[in-house]
Order: sequence, then C-alpha cells, then structure tokens
Amino acid sequence: MSAPAIVILGAGALDTARRIQALYAEGAAGVDRAAGAGCQVHGLHGRVEADVSYTELGAHLRELYARGTPIVALCAAGIVIRCVAPLLSNKGVEPPVLAVAEDGSAVVPLLGGLTDANVMAREIAAALAVPPAITTSGELRFGTCVLNPPEGYMLADIGQGKRFVSDLLAGESTRIEGDAPWLDDAQLPRSASARLAIRVTPRAWDGREDELVIHPRCVVAAVRGAGAGAGAGAGAGAGAGAQIVACVREALGAHGLAALSLSALLASSDDMTDPALAEAAASFNVPLRFAQTGPDGDKSPAGLLRAALRIPCETLHNDTSAGVALALAPLAIDPGTIGRARGRLTVIGLGPGRADLMVPAARTALDEATDILGYDTYVKMAGPLRAHQRVHGTDNREEMQRARHAFELASAGASVVMVSSGDPGVFAMAAAVLEALNASQDAAWAAVELTIVPGVSAALATAAQAGAPLGHDFCMLSLSDNLKPWAIIEKRLRHAAEADLVMAFYNPISRARPWQLDKALDIVREYRAAATQVVLGRDIGRPGGTLRTLTLGELKSSDVDMRTMVIVGSSMTRRFGGGSGGAEWVYTPRWYE
Ligand code: SAH
Repeated sequence: MSAPAIVILGAGALDTARRIQALYAEGAAGVDRAAGAGCQVHGLHGRVEADVSYTELGAHLRELYARGTPIVALCAAGIVIRCVAPLLSNKGVEPPVLAVAEDGSAVVPLLGGLTDANVMAREIAAALAVPPAITTSGELRFGTCVLNPPEGYMLADIGQGKRFVSDLLAGESTRIEGDAPWLDDAQLPRSASARLAIRVTPRAWDGREDELVIHPRCVVAAVRGAGAGAGAGAGAGAGAGAQIVACVREALGAHGLAALSLSALLASSDDMTDPALAEAAASFNVPLRFAQTGPDGDKSPAGLLRAALRIPCETLHNDTSAGVALALAPLAIDPGTIGRARGRLTVIGLGPGRADLMVPAARTALDEATDILGYDTYVKMAGPLRAHQRVHGTDNREEMQRARHAFELASAGASVVMVSSGDPGVFAMAAAVLEALNASQDAAWAAVELTIVPGVSAALATAAQAGAPLGHDFCMLSLSDNLKPWAIIEKRLRHAAEADLVMAFYNPISRARPWQLDKALDIVREYRAAATQVVLGRDIGRPGGTLRTLTLGELKSSDVDMRTMVIVGSSMTRRFGGGSGGAEWVYTPRWYE
C-alpha cells in the first residue's frame, strides 16, 4: 500500500494530522512501515500551511482516489463521500478512505474495507486513544476481515468470498483446511464437520461454492530469459514476455497450482537486462529476482532455484525443454529472501523545494528507495524518509565519488535514489552519473536499471513566479568556473548577449567566486540596454523565498547570492503592473520585431 495522504481544511486539524503522520512515519507497532514513507499532510491553500497544498477539496480527493492513494480526511464524513462519489464503481481496487474528526475524537473507515481501511482505522484510533467506528458486519462478528488476508496470501475469488462470508453471517460454521495462523485469534464459528471450509492452499480453486480459497504465495518459478534460447525461443522480440508467461502458466497448470500462489519469478543474473523477464513478472504482478549460478555452474532453471532458495522447497516441475522449474515451499515465501533484486539507480530532481513542485515519479522513487544519496541539504528536503532507508549524505563537491558510490550500491541489488535540486540534468548529478557509467567497464554497473526523472529547474520555477520571462528563446548558463575555464564563460556570455537571448544564470556567485558576476554583468551591459528587465529569484519554492524584478542598470552583484537565480531579459522582455495585490508581471512575447 502506498503512503496515505492526510487531508485537512484548516489549522484546527493540523495537530491531529501531525499525530497521524507521526504514526506512519515512525512505523509504530502494527503499522506497515512501507506505508509510512512520504506520508504527507495536504492543506487547503490560503487556509493552512502543510507539506502539500491543494486548492479545491473535491478535485484533490478525486485525484488522490483515482491514483489509488489511501486518504485520511480530517473533515465531515459526508463531505468526503460527496467528493469521491462520482468515482465509486469498482469495489475491488478502491484505496482506503477514512474520515477522522479534526479533534481526533472519531475515526470512521468509509471505503476500502478490502484494502485495509479497517486496519488503518484500528491503528489510527489506537494512536488517538478512541474506539474505531467499524461497521463491517463480518469484521465485527469475527474480529477480522476474512476477505483481507495478510501479506503473502491472496484471496482466490472475491465474488465467492462475499457469498461465503454472508453464509457465515447467516449462522453457518466453517472448517479451516491448511495453515491460516492469522485466523487463530479470530472468533470464527468453527466446526470440524462444517459444510463450509476455508482452504489455504497453493492449488487452484476448483469452483466449489462451499470453499473460501486463499493462496499462500509459496511457489517460485525459475525461467530463462528470452535471449537464452529454449522455451521462450522466439528471441527478444515482441511477445517474448507473453511466451514466458504462457510457459509458466502451463507448468503451474500441470500441477494444479494457482497463478496467485506465485511469490516471484527467478532468472539468471546474466539476464538482468532482459525486458521480456520484466514484462512477464509484471504480468503476474510478482517481483523478479535473480540468482548467480551456483558453484556447480548449473544455469538451468532448476539450478537457479537451488542457488536462490534459502529454505528447503520441493522441486515440482523441471521441464528443461520448456525452460521452467517450479519450487513449492511449505509456507508463503517473502520474495525479498529469494536470490537478489536487479539493482536500481534513479536520479531525481526535487524541484525548487516545495513538495507539490516535485514530480510524482520522483516521490515514488524516494518511497521505494533502500538507499538515498545526495548533498545533505537536498537529502533533508527529500524527507520524510523511512526509518530503514539508508542515507548517504555528503558534501556538495564530491560528485564523481558520489556517482560511483551509487553504482556500487545499486549493482549489489539496492534501490538507490540520487537526489539533486531542481532538475537532475541541469548542472546537477545526472551528468555525473552518466560520466561514471561511461568510464566504467563493470558489467554489473551496466546491468543496473538506470532512470533519470526530470524535475522543475530553478529557472523555470523562478520564471513562472515572475510571469513568463522565458517565453521566447533563452539559454541557461552556469557562471561557475569550478569545472570550466572562465574564458569559455566570457565567450558564451558575449555570444548569448549579442544574440539577444534571455539568459538564466545558475551558480551566479559564491564566496569562492566573488568577482565573476560583476565581470559577467559588464559583458552583458556591452550589448544590453540599462532598461533591460532582470528577475532575481532567491530560495524560490522554499520558506522565505523572495522574487524581485529590476533593471540591468539597477542590478548590483551584492543583490545576488549562491541561492539566487538571475534571469536577464532580452530587448523584448517587458514588465507591467496591475496584477492582483499590485503584483508586476514580467514576460517575453512569443514574437519578435
Ligand atoms: N539542478 C538545479 C541547479 C543546480 S545549480 C536546478 O535544475 O535547479 C545551483 C544553482 O541553482 C544555485 O546557485 C541557484 O542559482 C539555482 N537555484 C537552485 N535552487 C534554487 C531556488 N530554489 N531558488 C533560486 N535559485 C535556485
């Protein structure tokens, strides 16, 4: 489950919201740690400052719901219901939605009884020391939701499950066949001779109406990659993933096993970059794990199972020609214990600083990371992080060393996120990461799943706040001569100034580079009039951020520091007043004369 969004309408709810947030962030007892990552408080713009701001409650709740984000709304239950009502169609996939009284006196699970709404209600209510308002009959009667088995177990058929529970509610008893430790404390009416049975088994449900079948995820399928011949012999072309899926389904079917019993797909570390394997695992909705071949050098699927499984399992299927081997464990297996994952390195940008200016893909990468690297200030801005996420903060100057460190961690199986501010590809870590990879001969580094997620760069965030100064041709220049000769900077400034491009200056000045900005402005002034518009954005999107508009004639280097973005307009850039509250807009028209 992803992190819940805690939604508030005013400052009166902030205290309770922070208590609920702390419950998730700290991974309190009974709370899924993974869900705590990135748990943020969403506040109504203009009413309350929180982690994320929104402007319209209904639209915001619908957007969260549609994305499958669990919602804890600190307002009247009726308001929440009306807001999400247009989206209530598919009961199977709904995220949990809870209403909580803003003073913490009531916790009401509204939707998502099958997706942990009641579990969350119990956790939150316990933290607020009030009884949860549970209304689900089965859960009240039996003390647990029979249709929501714990992690590692899958309900075979939800429709059948509902019929089964209504039979129980009508007064029938049930047998339990198989191992269901989570039902030990449930107040289920049990009887060894009951007509109804809860059956915990990896075998596929045979359609019997009097059985509730729950599958433990206890089967591992080892497969060959599409490039490795046999079985999926079509090569890496289109449909190779579907062929792997078909082979696994056939092997499962031959033993009467349900696909929902799969815990993971396993393949050789040599095939880590094979997209067909990733496609097949995604199709089964299970993790893809990898094994180095054992000391015997046996690269067959059965050999992989021997190398990767740490508990004794029964080998059921070893059809070398089909390229599939199955292992059956006595209980659900945590896929994280099977072989290892393909390492991931995701280079993200936080945007200028405000949480709602970070792209959702960057937030997701942070939530899923095992290791987070970056300059200390940025790593702090990326929080709240989970207790078990390892943070490798460093000084800002050791970029190549940090990039290599990221590959070392990722090539050993970690999910690494490298944090930059703004956009990671603009004067930031993405280029350093690629330079490190380019210089490396290490095949394990090349096998890392490398992704670069774009972000809102400081020039774009500053420009948006000022209006549209980048509305026509512009360039971005770093005035830092740490990694390039000053003569190059001067030459580029001259060309850009002469070409009448709008210019965005990154790294305009620092204690170690005190004179460079004045020199740069002297050059620009040779080509641009004193009346040229200038925008200074300092700490844009961060607390205490300021925006100033002035002219090139007025600009002094003492107005600028290393946290400032300097945008120098072209001859066409203009400014006008009359915005709300006397604000001024700066823009560069889309045309030229
Ligand atoms: N990758 C970053 C830029 C890193 S270079 C990005 O895309 O934004 C660092 C420079 O960016 C700073 O010296 C400053 O000029 C500018 N900068 C970064 N964040 C800023 C912010 N929030 N407000 C104004 N300028 C910022």
